[in-house]
Amino acid sequence: MHNHEALYINGQWVKSNGNSKIDIINPTTERKIGSVPAGSVNDIDEAVKAAKTAFKEWSQSNIEDRIKILNLLSASFKEREEELAQIITAEVGTPIGYSRTAMVGTPRVVARSYSKILENFEWEEEVRNSLIVKEGIGVCAFITPWNFPLHQIIGKVAPAIASGCTMILKPSKEAPLSAFILADILHDIGLPPGVFNLVSGHGSEIGEYLASHPNVDMVSFTGSTNAGIAVSHAAADSIKRVTLELGGKSANVALDDADPVLVVKKALAACHQNSGQTCSALTRLIIPESMKDEVYNLIKAKNDSYTVGNPLDDKTRCGPMVSKNQQASVTKYIDIGIKEGATLISGGLGMPEGIETGFFVKPTIFGDVTSEMTIWKEEIFGPVLAITTYNNEAEALNLANDSIYGLSGGVWSESEERAIEFAKGMRTGQVSINGGFFNVTAPFGGYKLSGNGRELGVHGLNEFLEIKSIQR
Ligand code: NAD
Repeated sequence: MHNHEALYINGQWVKSNGNSKIDIINPTTERKIGSVPAGSVNDIDEAVKAAKTAFKEWSQSNIEDRIKILNLLSASFKEREEELAQIITAEVGTPIGYSRTAMVGTPRVVARSYSKILENFEWEEEVRNSLIVKEGIGVCAFITPWNFPLHQIIGKVAPAIASGCTMILKPSKEAPLSAFILADILHDIGLPPGVFNLVSGHGSEIGEYLASHPNVDMVSFTGSTNAGIAVSHAAADSIKRVTLELGGKSANVALDDADPVLVVKKALAACHQNSGQTCSALTRLIIPESMKDEVYNLIKAKNDSYTVGNPLDDKTRCGPMVSKNQQASVTKYIDIGIKEGATLISGGLGMPEGIETGFFVKPTIFGDVTSEMTIWKEEIFGPVLAITTYNNEAEALNLANDSIYGLSGGVWSESEERAIEFAKGMRTGQVSINGGFFNVTAPFGGYKLSGNGRELGVHGLNEFLEIKSIQR
């Protein structure tokens, strides 16, 4: 059991002022695996006070000390990789291999990338008679989701450390356990008291309060678009900086010279990774009408044999949904897809064959999806792919951009040049050409309702900086 009784505030584990707990449920077994305190607004006040006090010294800390902390953080993730991967698989249901690489490996590399960035970062520049100085923005509030629990946290904590900011983290209620290990790690590697504070709890009870706090200078939120809007409203009166990483409904476009075999091979993983619970998942596949029969046949065969089951089994590619609510929500969308008349190519309603326990759904593929259908428009956040066809490239681009979101995307073509030209027309923050890999130092973030601001790399660091002009 992972029962946590205390919150991490001002360099110490302290009892919460709240008097209730949040139970953590393993979505594979449906059993309780631990609990965390449901923090109160008084806990938030204490954490903000500690962060504000710590900012005075930490903002003046020397760059070598920050580099050292980031390298030690990265090394600690390596040392505790298996423990962290097992915990994230237990609370989220992520297949264990993917937990090791994406859930723990990526945060390890991100922490290290910020130590590298600091080695060459220019904190000052000359513009005519002015000296331009960059400084950490101050006290930062981080509100994070459950789907990549540690990665979403480190995408904020690492640049905050690098920029000399202090912080209060409120992790998700579904998957907060890795955040408690992170607090332990930061304590052990000597991050000064008050620089990092952890208050677990409910978004509606303490998340909005934290976002509205007058002594918080910036709020960085990752989660659903609706909660992002609530956070923006809460933050507005105190004119703090707000960065938002929100939902997506990203398009994966095969141009007419793409190889259908390759497209299908990668399209499933691009949609179903982390059991479809990925904000940047490519959930709309847009193919030439002439490719339709071949793609439908290929994708049916692949999806029918997609291994669903116990995430601790190395062969499993799709685990359960994170919660009973999430299972019900994805099931509702599969039902709507059928009722609205999309062609069910593979998967469908009900539990996957042979599975009785756990919050599972069947990985599902719909064809002949039209832009009026709900499954085309709304983020499902499960392993459900919507396929549509086009007759010319202009139509393909219109379809790709036919979304309130703009987080990610994919383009497939024999010609990289042609694919890049198409990518430039897409109103989205990231595009992968022919399955190009995720780059932890490239800016990540959304157009339209997918958010404001960028995370990762130098662009992610800049979000945490104020800029001062000194005229001489
Ligand atoms: P969620 O919005 O329900 O919760 C995210 C966090 O916000 C949690 O910590 C929650 O407690 C808190 N919260 C909820 N309501 C709040 C409120 N009114 N005020 C303040 N805080 C509040 O999202 P989720 O279900 O945890 O995550 C799934 C969503 O996150 C999906 O929409 C997904 O696309 C999005 N997401 C986006 C990115 C990205 O980088 N763009 C990454 C991961 C997830």
